[in-house]
Amino acid sequence: GELKHDDLVNICELGQGNGGIVWKIRHKLTDKIMARKYCTFTNIDDHWCNWCQWFWNSLSPKKGIYLEIKPAVKNQIVRELKVLDRCNSPYIVGFYGTFAAEGQINICMEYMDGGSLDLILKKVMRIPEHILGKITVAVLRGLSYLREHHRIMHRDIKPSNILVNHQGEIKLCDFGVSAQLIDSTLQTFIGTRSYMSPERLEGAHYGIMSDIWSLGLSLVEMALGRYPIPPPSIEDIDRLFDVDPDGNQSRPEGYGCYKVLAIFELMEWIVNEAPPSLPEKHFSPDFCDFIDRCLKKSTTERADLNTLLHHPFYKRYATESDNQDVSLWIEQVHQKDQSLTNDNDNNQYGRS
Ligand code: ATP
Ligand code: MG
Repeated sequence: GELKHDDLVNICELGQGNGGIVWKIRHKLTDKIMARKYCTFTNIDDHWCNWCQWFWNSLSPKKGIYLEIKPAVKNQIVRELKVLDRCNSPYIVGFYGTFAAEGQINICMEYMDGGSLDLILKKVMRIPEHILGKITVAVLRGLSYLREHHRIMHRDIKPSNILVNHQGEIKLCDFGVSAQLIDSTLQTFIGTRSYMSPERLEGAHYGIMSDIWSLGLSLVEMALGRYPIPPPSIEDIDRLFDVDPDGNQSRPEGYGCYKVLAIFELMEWIVNEAPPSLPEKHFSPDFCDFIDRCLKKSTTERADLNTLLHHPFYKRYATESDNQDVSLWIEQVHQKDQSLTNDNDNNQYGRS
């Protein structure tokens, strides 16, 4: 049946981004737990479908900014957004539906109880290579599903759009199904970090190769435990790895701190300077090579999806079909988090 505001009970907030707020909710009629993305905006146009508004909002630089879009373009967008209903892959977050309520657009999707990789990265110092291998396999399979079955690219690969759960599943969310919509907006909206490829930042024509760059950059961030632009020095990296070679320890205060570039400097760096890489001392040669191939600035040199699906780093993790190591790792991260929360509770409400 249709999803309605009155049938949904808020449980807790899961996070906030530029596009809105995400809540964990329960659907009263089915008892199903879902994730609900609220999007606030001011100009609801009745002729516009919910999906469009949601996507428009998640892309617009500031809440409520409104851009004229021609009716023909709108119709095209509506057609393109229908893709979401038909997405069915173990590597793509499931969608339950959308609706408008109290001036807000809501999108209900599969709840992923392990959260997003950016949140996990705030709890641990780094994500170990064998888990990054599994993440790579899931992302590449998700990307090839979107390409093979829907002829679309993702457009927004980054740690916060890769979600995990306790079964050890890894899935993509928030992909830009509508090329039309994205092209009719300010396509280079970025926050304080950018996972966009050099060609996209330069305003050139970009395609699926741009997703490969974003994957490479996200993997380096998760492997080192910090956003890699500007790149840390060798000494910085050695220091980071001396603290805890496995990266399993909780993140100490100030870990991963670095010089934050202004957004223009950052874009300039990505376009003009050498791309980030992984230190060979701390990662396997296959992983380092995989990253080098993803982070080629020139799209003709960058590896494409098919090449990566045959890369030794991908193959090493593609053969095992069970998710057990990922699920154990999520459990471990979660337990650590639990004990931290309990400590805080005790401090705050210390019994006397
Ligand atoms: P941006 O708006 O810049 O893309 P973002 O991806 O973090 O950043 P949102 O997409 O609004 O912003 O998501 C906010 C947070 O909600 C995410 O970081 C993630 O931790 C959490 N979240 C989103 N979808 C789900 C889901 N289906 N299950 C569990 N948590 C989710
Ligand atoms: Mg997101």
